[in-house]
Amino acid sequence: MNRTKCDECGGKIIKNTVDFSLYGISLGKFNAEVCTKCGEECFDEETSDMIDEAAKAKGLWGLGAKSKVGIAGDSFIIRVNKKLAKFLDLKKGEEVSLRPETKNKLIIEV
Ligand SMILES: [Zn+2]
Repeated sequence: MNRTKCDECGGKIIKNTVDFSLYGISLGKFNAEVCTKCGEECFDEETSDMIDEAAKAKGLWGLGAKSKVGIAGDSFIIRVNKKLAKFLDLKKGEEVSLRPETKNKLIIEV
C-alpha cells in the first residue's frame, strides 16, 4: 500500500506508528498510514496479521459474539458466552448496569 491521499476525505497520508487497542487493552505500537486530516488509520496486510496475533496472545481473539434474545416471564434474556464472561470477570449474582446508547446499541457496565 502506498496511498498518498485519504480515501475518506482526500487528506494527506503519512506513515506513522500508532498505538492499537482492542477492548481498551493496548496491543502495542504498529506501523500505519495515517490521514493528517481526519485521522483515519490504515494497516497493511502484514501489520493486520501482527495485530491479530497480538490479540490472540492476549486472549482477546473472538470475544465478539452473537446471542439470541430469550424470554423468561416478563423479562428478556440475552446470554453472555463463557469466554466473554471470563474476560469481563462476571460472577453469578453480580449486579450490572444496563442502558441504551442509541436505539440499537445496549451498554452493559460491569
Ligand atoms: Zn482522511
